Amino acid sequence: MLEVSNITKYYGEKLAVDHLSFTVKKGEIFGLLGENGAGKTTTFRIIMGLLNANSGSVFLNGKQIDYKLTDQIGYVTEERSLLTKMTVKDQILFYGILKGMDEEDILEELDKWLSRFEITSYKNRKIKELSKGNQQKVQFISAIIHKPKLLILDEPFSGLDPINVELLKKAILALQKEGCAIIFSSHQMDIIEDFCEKLIILKEGKPVVSGYLKEIKKEYKKMNIRIKGEDLPLDEIKKIKGVLSVLPKKGEIEVKIENIKVKDKVFQKIKNCDITKYDVMEASLNEIFIAKVGGKDEA
Ligand code: ATP
Repeated sequence: MLEVSNITKYYGEKLAVDHLSFTVKKGEIFGLLGENGAGKTTTFRIIMGLLNANSGSVFLNGKQIDYKLTDQIGYVTEERSLLTKMTVKDQILFYGILKGMDEEDILEELDKWLSRFEITSYKNRKIKELSKGNQQKVQFISAIIHKPKLLILDEPFSGLDPINVELLKKAILALQKEGCAIIFSSHQMDIIEDFCEKLIILKEGKPVVSGYLKEIKKEYKKMNIRIKGEDLPLDEIKKIKGVLSVLPKKGEIEVKIENIKVKDKVFQKIKNCDITKYDVMEASLNEIFIAKVGGKDEA
């Protein structure tokens, strides 16, 4: 479906994207992560044909991307771009017609989405009268009204309350089910963990982590043990080879270990204590992100 092949982009002297490659298949949700300025928006703009890469190519269904093909893509930009004096209905009609749809089809799709997002009563209201969260929903509808094959979402959840985050997540999953390939950026790692099977983490335009989330976690090796119990020998645990840190967390302690083998040594130390919980967990994506992007990782 989408193939980004070895793209590099400079702004003058500034290297924004550095030999980046990835693929996103039909019905796949792909996360493009990275700290501020890592090159995510630049990558999206290149995929959309809004910017030319200095080298490398982007293919959509085997064809090199050009302006005509971008009709098959929906794009929600990071900086929201609605015409706020228009009504919701006129705005969506405007975008739908630009994408070559019939008015009747646009209105049918629009009603479906307004109902899904619980904003049917705003159909004839001016966009500027809507809350930021509801404007964001309209922005989303404008990007998917033409049923794109590929959907690009730059920070789609920022500024949404938890209920609206759930509504948008459901909408994205519904599109995935219909076969849409989805690629999105977010700084909210918990959402990425929930959602993306596959991801890339960029640092200064270069991928520092890439692949399937499951594999990434397995390869990372470091793990966390959550223990709840009475009189735990914290100093003893800290001394075990392979224990990286021991921290109290919400009435429990969290022991970070170098790899899974260390868990048995920790267990030996506490097995005679009064324990009510002993959970061994993979590192969170947030931890992996900080380790890889913060440059403190030696794994
Ligand atoms: P954020 O998470 O903050 O949105 P990002 O990952 O989307 O960041 P980009 O906007 O792609 O990052 O920017 C990548 C780099 O390119 C940054 O160093 C940025 O300052 C630089 N850059 C982006 N656009 C331009 C431009 N038009 N001219 C010059 N430099 C630019």
